[in-house]
Amino acid sequence: MAKYKLEYIWLDGYTPVPNLRSKTTIKEFDSFPKLGDLPMWGFDGSSTKQAEGRSSDCMLKPVACFPDTTRKNGVLVMCEVMMPDGTTPHPSNTRATILDDPDAWFGFEQEYFLFQDGKPLGFPSDGFPNPQGEYYTGVGFKNVGDIARQIVEEHLDLCLDAGINHEGINAEVAKGQWEFQIFGKGSRTAADQVWMARYLLIRLCEKYCVDVEFHCKPIRGDWNGSGMHTNFSTKYLREVGGKEYFEKLMAQFQKNMDEHIAVYGPDNHLRLTGLHETQAIDKFTYGLADRGSSIRVPHSFVNAGYKGYLEDRRPNSQGDPYQIASRILKTISEVPTP
Ligand code: ADP
Ligand code: MN
Ligand code: MN
Ligand code: MN
Repeated sequence: MAKYKLEYIWLDGYTPVPNLRSKTTIKEFDSFPKLGDLPMWGFDGSSTKQAEGRSSDCMLKPVACFPDTTRKNGVLVMCEVMMPDGTTPHPSNTRATILDDPDAWFGFEQEYFLFQDGKPLGFPSDGFPNPQGEYYTGVGFKNVGDIARQIVEEHLDLCLDAGINHEGINAEVAKGQWEFQIFGKGSRTAADQVWMARYLLIRLCEKYCVDVEFHCKPIRGDWNGSGMHTNFSTKYLREVGGKEYFEKLMAQFQKNMDEHIAVYGPDNHLRLTGLHETQAIDKFTYGLADRGSSIRVPHSFVNAGYKGYLEDRRPNSQGDPYQIASRILKTISEVPTP
């Protein structure tokens, strides 16, 4: 038997953007615990905007677990928040709204800024650095600064060691802006991993006195905002698809435009302006390889006879991947397949 440090992680009740919360419990196991070995736990919901003071208990239901290589015998336990009965999802539990579909695949491209003293890492103490141009996928101190790459590399290793399915990382268009991509099969897999990767990044940055800024437009002016492009496919889209089905699907996305925007992250009007490779927030368009449209249709999709995956470019960096996946699958479910 060994003592394991179980870090239970959940989303609190703050709106419009929940915070990550976590606390540790020590439990003994013969070997690294499996999800089914992990007990439910509770917390004081009155301190997280999830309950009134009088009856403040909320429950934590483990839904995914990952090794934590920063701690001896460390386990990261992603949880859903449940009501005191342990079976009813709490109203803040957006994960519970996702349709169950093991054949739904998602790829999230998470952009974010690293911030220090209220500005992106690498910005001078007053004024601005050189305009955008050489920062995207850039190399060199003048482009990426000193500690940013160290943070990004350390984060990548933490995630890979945890079994998170990162597909890549890159320096982004604005100074101090970065991206990682996570892909997962199953309607909740990639979303769980995005939240876990966010947790690991925020926690890692503590020791560098750096904050992670997920807001979609942290610097006004001619500086890119941050998105979370959401690539998605279902078994039907991958294996059957077809132009007629695709057009019906896009009509349904058009019809639900407002419902999608409502869960694609706050302040998105600051980012979806029609500039900087975005479509305006009040328009829905799709286009072949068009990075100025709401949904980009990859060449591969059309070449395969309207089969494969699509990229919704509207979700922003602060969006909740649970709500984004939930809404996309709901809209898809509204279009009958023959
Ligand atoms: P961009 O040019 O917008 O950065 P990429 O081609 O780099 O786009 O990324 C596309 C993403 O699409 C990949 O990172 C992957 O996660 C995701 N993806 C690829 N195939 C599928 C699929 N069949 N279903 C869902 N997502 C997919
Ligand atoms: Mn990308
Ligand atoms: Mn990007
Ligand atoms: Mn993209």
